[in-house]
Parts: sequence; C-alpha cells; structure tokens
Amino acid sequence: MSFKDATLSEVDSAVQEAHVAFLSYKNFSGKKKAAFLRAVADEIEGLGDELVKTAMSETNLPEARIIGERGRTTGHCRMFADYIEEGSWVEARVDTAIPDRTPAPKPDIRKKLVALGPVVVFGAANFPLAYSTAGGDTASALAAGCPVIIKAHPAHAKTSELVAKAIFKAMQTSGMPKGVFQHLHGAGFEVGQALVKHPRVKAVGFTGSFAGGKALFDLANQREVPIPVFAEMSSINPVVLLPESLEKNAKGTAALLAGSITLGVGQFCTNPGLILAVEGKGLEQFITELSSEISKAVPGLMLHEGIAANYVKKMAEALAQKGVKLEVQAATESSKGDKNQGRPTVASAPAAEFLKNPSLAEEVFGPFSLIIRCKDMTELNSVVSHVHGQLTSSVIGEESEVSKHPSLLNILTEKAGRLIINGVPTGVEVCPSQNHGGPFPATTDSRFTAVGTDALKRFARPVSYQNFPDALLPDELKNGNPLGIWRIYNGDWKK
Ligand code: NAP
Repeated sequence: MSFKDATLSEVDSAVQEAHVAFLSYKNFSGKKKAAFLRAVADEIEGLGDELVKTAMSETNLPEARIIGERGRTTGHCRMFADYIEEGSWVEARVDTAIPDRTPAPKPDIRKKLVALGPVVVFGAANFPLAYSTAGGDTASALAAGCPVIIKAHPAHAKTSELVAKAIFKAMQTSGMPKGVFQHLHGAGFEVGQALVKHPRVKAVGFTGSFAGGKALFDLANQREVPIPVFAEMSSINPVVLLPESLEKNAKGTAALLAGSITLGVGQFCTNPGLILAVEGKGLEQFITELSSEISKAVPGLMLHEGIAANYVKKMAEALAQKGVKLEVQAATESSKGDKNQGRPTVASAPAAEFLKNPSLAEEVFGPFSLIIRCKDMTELNSVVSHVHGQLTSSVIGEESEVSKHPSLLNILTEKAGRLIINGVPTGVEVCPSQNHGGPFPATTDSRFTAVGTDALKRFARPVSYQNFPDALLPDELKNGNPLGIWRIYNGDWKK
C-alpha cells in the first residue's frame, strides 16, 4: 500500500487548521492536554501486534527493538502528561510592584512560558516510533500547547499512518479540536519545504541527515519571518580511552565498545564513531580484542536501501583517505542474501592525518568506528579540540586517571551536550536531567534537548505581564497561585 503525497493545497489546509486549533488548544489546562497525551499512549498500545509487525516489516528492526521503542513512545507521552499536569514547567516568576521605590516606582511584572504555535515534525528514519509520528518532538510540542503537523518518513509510511490513526482517535476521545494533529505524506522534498515555508508554522523538529537538516534550517531562516528549526543531524560521539586504564582492561573496554558500535546496526545518532587513544601496548591489545569481537559480529539489515547505500559509500570514502587502515570488517551473512546488510567495520588513522583531513571527522552512519592513534595526551587533546560539536563525549578511565587530565574534560565540555565517564554513548535515558543535544552540527541549537521533559521548552517562549489586574492574569501568575505550582516569587522558590 502506498500513500498519496499531499498537494500544496492540502499542505495549506493542514497548516490553517492547525493554526485555528492552536488558538484554543494553547489555552487548554495542563490536565486536559495531559488526558490527550495519555489517550495517545493508550491508543498506540491498542494497536497491538499490527503496529509491531508493520514497523518490523518496514524497517528491518527486530521485534524486541520495536516493542522497546513502543514502550519508550508511550512512556514519553505519559511523562509529558505528568509534567504538564503538575504545571511548574511554565517557569512562572513574579516580581511584585514597589510603588514607593525611588527614584522611580517599580511596576508589577510577572513572566511565564507560552506555546509557540503550529510545529512541523519530520519523522526520523532510525526511530520509526520513538522519534517519528508520536515521537519525542510530537509529544513535547503537544505538551507545550502546540499543534503538530507530521511529515511522515517515506521509509515507514504505513507505521506512521497507523500511529496517526491512534492519535486521531485519542483526539476524539479526549475532546481535542480538529487540527491539533495533522499527518501528511510526501516522498520528495516539496511537501516538507512547503510546510517549513508556511507563514503559520512557528517551529520545526527534525532528525536525519546533515544535508536535510541544514537545508531546512537555511530555508526557515530565509523566510520573511524566520522560525527556529530544532534539527538533530550528525554526531560521531568521540570516546577517549585513557592509557593506564586501557592497559589494565583492554579486553573489557573492547567488549563494551563492540556492543555499542554494533547496537541497532549502528543506526543511532549516539553511535561511537570516533575512538581516541594514545599509542602503546594497551591500544594494540585493545585493537586486537575489538577486532576479535567485531569479526564475530553478525551484520544486521539496515533500515532502508538508501541508508545502506549511504553507509557503503561513506565508509568507502573514509577507508580511502590517506593514513586510514582497515582493522576489521565483519563478513556478510550470505544466507541472508540481502544487500542491506550493514557490516560492522573498524579502521584506524594517525592523529596527524586526522588533524589534516576534515573528511575524517564526518559521520559514517552505521556500525563504523575510526580509532585515532595519538602520540601522547597533548596530541589527543589537539584531536579533541579539532572535532565538531557532538551529542556526547565519553572518557573511559579510572577516576584517579581521569582527574589527572582536567584540560581534557574542559575541552570535551565545549564540544558535547552529554559527557559520560566509563560508559558508551548509546542508550539515552529519558528523564528530566537528560540532555540530548549539542553544539552544531550535532544540532542546530545547542541550548535545547530533544529528550527528557525539557524538550518541550523548544516549543515555548516567555511572555511578561506588566501591571495586570489579578483577574486578567493567567492562572499560573495569579496572586493566590490557584494551580499550586512552583514559582519564583520576589526571588524565592514558593508554591
Ligand atoms: P534525511 O535524508 O535527512 O531525511 C529525513 C526527512 O527529511 C525525510 O522526510 C526527507 O524527505 C526530509 N528531507 C531531507 N532533506 C530535505 C530537504 N532538503 N528538503 C525537504 N525535506 C527534506 O534522512 P534519512 O532518510 O532518515 O536518512 C538518510 C541519512 O541521514 C542516513 O544515511 C544518515 O546518514 C542520516 N541520518 C542521521 C541520523 C542521526 O541521528 N544522526 C538519523 C537518521 C539519519 P524525503 O524522505 O521525502 O526525501
């Protein structure tokens, strides 16, 4: 079954309806929006096996992964429901008037976050559930009070359609206005670009390629009224292996990294694409152990033909660069007979070559990792300074050794949105303290996260209310604090 691409007139109607819906939806109570998000979670669960089977057939992902992703999707819908029902997310601040202040009286000023308006979300190929139709971008935008228009990812259009049906049903059962959620297909750039250019659209959420994210970001900035594009694009997630600790545990470190490189056929934005270490016995043992692990790995099928072809092309380009040595590549499984097999591959290169060649710092999306051989920690620090912005950076080493290198952590903090000690970047916990974002080109706006409760802040903006009579203030800012939320009242946290 294939779905009809939306026409430009359907794009316009969808956005106009979303705008009309916004005018009422933005004022719904946290409780009402929370009931909608919980209904979305229930309806997705109600799709049962049909959803799991459809997603598996469209993405090549195994059942356990799809079931896990479904749990993450319904989990974040319920997480945002709890968050907005509690209500303190609006960051209410109250600074009461000081009429007798000299030389000028101080007015009463109060501030809170309000919803931005209709948000366009591009479904991500690598997360058919958790970062697509009811994914983190959708759930956080709806939670903030913004209608969502989905541009379905063509690689899992049926899965997207099923989830959209569940959301439409949830809209009915929870009394949401028509237009709060819209779902459009478009196997080509026209639909997506028309959505981003539409004057009623107020923000964009995107996960995908650097080329796609940057093109949409540029388009949004060329509009007469520019809008924010929260694009998560490319990250190679450097992992630093400290020498003394590596020598003590080369085998364990290799097993840890092999698991991370091959997880999900490497199709995670947090894949460890760059490993940095100082030359020596520990590194050689590590490469031997990692090669042994990777050569035993069974290649999985990649998400779609385009991603598989891109992996082969980008990997071949990386391997052809000066100084790059192929360390190990898993054999294809001839019994599987599918050209979409993503072969886990590890290569190495001297730091001096990496520092000269910017293409070696580009993402190879798939189960690929490049080990950079550094002469010493000074050269390793130079490599770290040289990498672009990242979602994550990891250091593997005992606490006593990590503490000997304060400048390393200092530079890594400049580069990434999440720092990890003695762990791998794959596996993104969904919780309030999570930051899944990072300096460009990991994302287009390092000030925000795409995962965790703060993801909704991307779709909200502050408004101050000056000298408002109490009755005209939003409930969150009224004198009596009728919603009982946490506020900063004349400088003190209060309920
Ligand atoms: P993509 O090519 O960036 O496409 C993602 C979505 O954006 C699709 O709906 C696509 O539309 C749309 N799009 C892309 N460029 C556009 C443009 N210039 N104008 C309007 N719409 C545009 O990503 P993908 O298909 O998911 O995967 C391709 C490659 O992206 C992968 O091989 C990988 O390198 C990278 N990727 C990276 C991450 C990450 O997290 N770092 C995640 C997923 C993918 P159409 O499908 O209609 O063309």
